[in-house]
Amino acid sequence: MDKNLTMDKLVNLCKSRGFVFQGSEIYGGFANTWDFGPVGVELKNNIKKAWWKRFVQEDPQTFGVDAAILMNPRVWEASGHVQSFSDPQLDCKSCKYRFRADNLIEEKFKDVDVEVMTTEEMQNFIEEHKVKCPHCGNFNWTPVRQFKLMFETSRGTVEGEKDVVYLRPETCQGEYVNFLNVQRTMRAKVPFAIAQIGKSFRNEITPGNFLFRTVEFEQMELQKFCHPKDSMDFYNDYKKRAMDFVCDLGLEKENLRFHDHEKLAHYAKAACDIQYNFPIGWQELNGIHHRGDWDLSRHSEFSGKNMEYLDPFTNEKFLPNVIEYSIGADRLTLAIMSEAYEEEKLENGETRVVMHFKPFLAPFKVAVLPLQKNLSEKAKEVYAVLSKEFMCDYDEAGSIGKRYRRQDEIGTPFCVTIDFDTLEDDTVTVRDRDTMAQERLKIDTIVSYFEKKIKF
Ligand code: ATP
Repeated sequence: MDKNLTMDKLVNLCKSRGFVFQGSEIYGGFANTWDFGPVGVELKNNIKKAWWKRFVQEDPQTFGVDAAILMNPRVWEASGHVQSFSDPQLDCKSCKYRFRADNLIEEKFKDVDVEVMTTEEMQNFIEEHKVKCPHCGNFNWTPVRQFKLMFETSRGTVEGEKDVVYLRPETCQGEYVNFLNVQRTMRAKVPFAIAQIGKSFRNEITPGNFLFRTVEFEQMELQKFCHPKDSMDFYNDYKKRAMDFVCDLGLEKENLRFHDHEKLAHYAKAACDIQYNFPIGWQELNGIHHRGDWDLSRHSEFSGKNMEYLDPFTNEKFLPNVIEYSIGADRLTLAIMSEAYEEEKLENGETRVVMHFKPFLAPFKVAVLPLQKNLSEKAKEVYAVLSKEFMCDYDEAGSIGKRYRRQDEIGTPFCVTIDFDTLEDDTVTVRDRDTMAQERLKIDTIVSYFEKKIKF
């Protein structure tokens, strides 16, 4: 990661180059929402594809699902979300800024264990210690209230007879409720995992920091169902696999670390995050949680369906334990962009911005650039060949130097330039993004040349 990188620089690059735009921008935006543009959607799709390949395609014991976002509201009672998925919130009456009471206390009083405090205790603590507003410095708070993090909507055809339903705040419940279906239809034997990529929604209070914390985001996660005696082995295995995956995507080891949780949910046996050194500092990138048999036991209880597993080899009946591995696709996209960014000083004194994405993640693999407009017919022929295999960009506007810079900024690993010699001998110039070296290749060899360099 370039030490000159700030979040503002990244946001500006994303906006100007088509990675990410502010949500509903022409209406002045909509807090903590972002729209992926033509370049960003390719990057994020490639990240999701890489995750699916590694954890589903290459693992015969993992099965994918795509569950409904709206679920029977009983699911959220069983999971505990209806009762307790909320944050303690208070507003500064002077500047109208909103804060989480636990964060406010934690930041000033490092030794205080906020997790064991009730709403009332937090309120009393803030009053007794005269904790001031970090934004305006006044001491002028509303009372602390529990702020529900689940978005509610309603379902019903007759006005006045509507039922509350929730936008899911996590995708994993879609796997728990399908445990029996997947096990039966895929003839799966425990241990096996169910994986999913999908949107989650949380009415987050805390400020966003670009893609880091948004109110709707995509999770890529899997739930491994296993025998309790094997559960710690799987927990450690997924810690390693999760770390290997983000390293293989190009995140530097020195910017990654494990963070084991000391305070655990009452049902959890172990939990850890992988943290990444974002431009805003060290923050959670993904989580790996040992959830015991909490999820299946709660769904058995609330649905009345027995979710025990009968081991066909030992005849033992047991409720599987769950190891959860979950990573945000948007947060990982932010990490990948942060790591890839470089302001490179060139020999001629100029500076170029380059996004050093691994080729398999790059939004466009190849840009086809006719040196002059009257070469566009040949260039379009080359584009037609390459675009059957790879996501390609085509650009014939402006000087070739400016076009190379634009491709550097969106991280295109290869540029193919068509010139007058191409018309004579069917060769093109291939320029490498990172080294800027150029070589001359026959058109009929370039597909296999790129294929080798792009593979994950
Ligand atoms: P945090 O402590 O940052 O709020 P969490 O512990 O609540 O995260 P999980 O519920 O374990 O997160 O979700 C798994 C992953 O989903 C996180 O590691 C993160 O990558 C992603 N994620 C969670 N909340 C958000 C959000 N509001 N915006 C973007 N990504 C998120």
